[in-house]
Amino acid sequence: MRCVILGDIHSNLTAFEAVLADAMARGRIDRLWSLGDVVGYGPDPCQCIQLLRRYDHLCVMGNHDGAAVGFLDTADFNPDAAAASRWTGQQLGREERQYLESLPLSVSEGDFTLVHGSPRGPIWEYLLSVASARASFAVLDSPFCLVGHSHVPLVFEEHRGSGTCSFLSLSVDVPLQLGEHRLIINPGGVGQPRDGDPRASYAIYDSENRAIQHYRVPYDVAVTQRRMERYGLPVHLIERLGHGW
Ligand code: ZN
Repeated sequence: MRCVILGDIHSNLTAFEAVLADAMARGRIDRLWSLGDVVGYGPDPCQCIQLLRRYDHLCVMGNHDGAAVGFLDTADFNPDAAAASRWTGQQLGREERQYLESLPLSVSEGDFTLVHGSPRGPIWEYLLSVASARASFAVLDSPFCLVGHSHVPLVFEEHRGSGTCSFLSLSVDVPLQLGEHRLIINPGGVGQPRDGDPRASYAIYDSENRAIQHYRVPYDVAVTQRRMERYGLPVHLIERLGHGW
């Protein structure tokens, strides 16, 4: 089975389409695994939900998905994110709203758990430190976990036996081979990368090779930025796409 792992699409249809085209060009795709924040920030919330739903897929709820349908209070968002969230909520039709409302906080398939933030805090926790990863491994009941939320591609590894935890980078050059150690993996952000590289970020899991390969895909950032301008979305959100930050 080959699964495309998608974190934080964030209503960026141009980036999402570029990632799917790249993944298809690399071989058969059986399933999409979306780690939440399908919407928020970007200009195409309905189109991104509709495109995701055309595929056999799993998806969990992100904080922006929950906020767009009123499950979460945007008082916890910064002003730009809150403004974009209100605009997103106004764009949703009944079907898109019902889809977002139906998303689970966590879902398991085979050896994997999918959550947006972390196993310890599925909606809000950013997994960016070894200390927070250690706390999440303590409540994780599967060998591997896929997370989004930080928009930063990375891997935490728990050493079997000692229980110590370490940080690995997720390389585009070498596949991440799944072995005996438990892992928490973030594929980076499709629609709003935040590691200084504006290219869309995603990964493919190949169950036959037991490996995850990370990819970066250039897309036409200016096309997304122009649509954001047309809809009056916050300038800071438009500019940051060009910086990958
Ligand atoms: Zn996000």
